[in-house]
Amino acid sequence: MKKTLFAIAALALAGSALAWPDKPVTVVVPFAAGGPTDKVARDLAVALQKNLNNQSIVVENVGGAGGTLGAARVAKAAPDGYTFLLHHIGMATSPALYRSLPYKTLEDFEYVGMINEVPMTLVGRSTLPANNYAELVKWLEANKGKINLANAGLGAASHLCGLLFQQALKIDMTTIPYKGTAPAMTDLLGGQVDLMCDQTTNTTTQIEAGKIKAFAVTTSKPLTTPALAKLPTLDSQGLKGFNVSVWHGLYAPRGTPKAVLDQMNAALKKSLQDPAFVRSMESLGAVMVTDARTNPAEHKRFVEAEIAKWGPVIRAAGQYAD
Ligand code: ASP
Repeated sequence: MKKTLFAIAALALAGSALAWPDKPVTVVVPFAAGGPTDKVARDLAVALQKNLNNQSIVVENVGGAGGTLGAARVAKAAPDGYTFLLHHIGMATSPALYRSLPYKTLEDFEYVGMINEVPMTLVGRSTLPANNYAELVKWLEANKGKINLANAGLGAASHLCGLLFQQALKIDMTTIPYKGTAPAMTDLLGGQVDLMCDQTTNTTTQIEAGKIKAFAVTTSKPLTTPALAKLPTLDSQGLKGFNVSVWHGLYAPRGTPKAVLDQMNAALKKSLQDPAFVRSMESLGAVMVTDARTNPAEHKRFVEAEIAKWGPVIRAAGQYAD
């Protein structure tokens, strides 16, 4: 009898090795608060908290250098299960953009799982004289040398999208980097910058409110979100093959215990089915990934494929930083 009790206690203890988390968990967002990556993280945090015994999830914004500062912070954090990174496509574009990154993308992280895909929109200040994509192109042609394009720094999705757009049109624009597209949006709303490519998780409500002008979506197919359904794709407007979609994934520092990673992955999978999270994301044009893509191995395989896909495109554009 005693033995059985001991066995039960031992099992409970083994369970308590899994009594993680027993203090708040930090999720680093490598961009400014109030922006699209932050929106995904903060909505996900609410769902994750429910699926991690109501333990608090603290979202920490470490913006700058196109997301690489925040990623570096997590790569160097203690692998104790209390620091994670929620990053986007920049995880795969930065290796080609930076001559020396302060971390190794494929070696310094544990891959926890993919989250969602978010299309981008090409938007402009409300005072731009153009009212649709064709008029925008005419305005760009007529204003060469005077156009400002906001982005979240080298390595950001807005940088990649803006780079491809300038290349496709063969029009150079002055890029204005921010720590994220939240502060960039503030300047777009204030008319200090002309244009920006940004995720629908940041632009949809501003478009709906008529505070910015929307010209096109960056995906190959039109979107179904009511506020964005009438927007043409860049591909259909003559930029053949233009297709940029921002995906998000969750990472931990290399060496984070497997038991913690498994538990976080299970919580992530449940959270991706959380009705409030799904509703919020879908209303902003985001698409949840299928369950298979939330597996760590599949997540890592996808990032490897994205590095291979974007590297040559970025190198061909001759873009890099030290
Ligand atoms: N949308 C930003 C980007 O261009 C990042 C952000 O602020 O979430 O990558």
